[in-house]
Amino acid sequence: MLGTDPDLERAKAIGVSLFAGEAEGRLQQVLQDAAAGQLEPLYDFTDDLPALEGTPIPLLPGKTVQRAVGGSTSFDAGRGCPYQCSFCTIINVQGRKSRRRSPADIEKIVRVNYAQGLRSFFITDDNFARNKDWEPILDRLIHLREVESRPDRRVSPSRPMTRVRAGGSVPG
Ligand code: SF4
Repeated sequence: MLGTDPDLERAKAIGVSLFAGEAEGRLQQVLQDAAAGQLEPLYDFTDDLPALEGTPIPLLPGKTVQRAVGGSTSFDAGRGCPYQCSFCTIINVQGRKSRRRSPADIEKIVRVNYAQGLRSFFITDDNFARNKDWEPILDRLIHLREVESRPDRRVSPSRPMTRVRAGGSVPG
């Protein structure tokens, strides 16, 4: 539930519509209301966190990303964390329910960005250690980087690429 705040109250008082929560699956209704001139004063989805699997991928045009420092694009692999560390802001913003993009979603994001010339990715996950798909996600990223993006590198059956390599170690 959205808390109270003097600035939010002032915004509401002058007719500003507020959206709280995450937009996946909800933005369509807001845009339709806006187009119809019938925006609600408040859209509060803070108690209804959406799943991330299969949602439309976040994507900026490559030319836009290239203007940012390092030419890195970014996306979140997972949101939320079930723990309650006292110093943590994550759980106040993203909630205590872990949600994640599927390995196929993540591979698609990387492929689509790679196709538009982007080679650097900043990936966030509120608690990747709790992401049930950490292993297939890393396997796919390793394959994309070590095999597909470097045709000069061939994986020999006698020297299988291990996920340890993702951490900077040598191939197994
Ligand atoms: S995201 Fe990290 S710091 Fe925050 S509650 Fe979870 S484990 Fe604790």
